[in-house]
Amino acid sequence: MADAKKPAKKGEEKEAVYNKRSHYKVEGGRVVRGRRFCPKDGPGVFLADHKDRWSCGKCGYVEFKAKKEAPPARA
Ligand SMILES: [Zn+2]
Repeated sequence: MADAKKPAKKGEEKEAVYNKRSHYKVEGGRVVRGRRFCPKDGPGVFLADHKDRWSCGKCGYVEFKAKKEAPPARA
């Protein structure tokens, strides 16, 4: 039997497979990518990228963006 002996693998087998899924979308003449998906509608439904939030135009889901700095309190 020509059974080649394979070297014992250490640790878990990791496949170097990357799904190159780049989402490009032209919006207002600008290429927008890195959109977020709607958690309710699932992949395929993008969230509209607003200044301070993402919103779904399908189900109305709104996700606010995390702010690094708190807005200055105006007296
Ligand atoms: Zn949605």
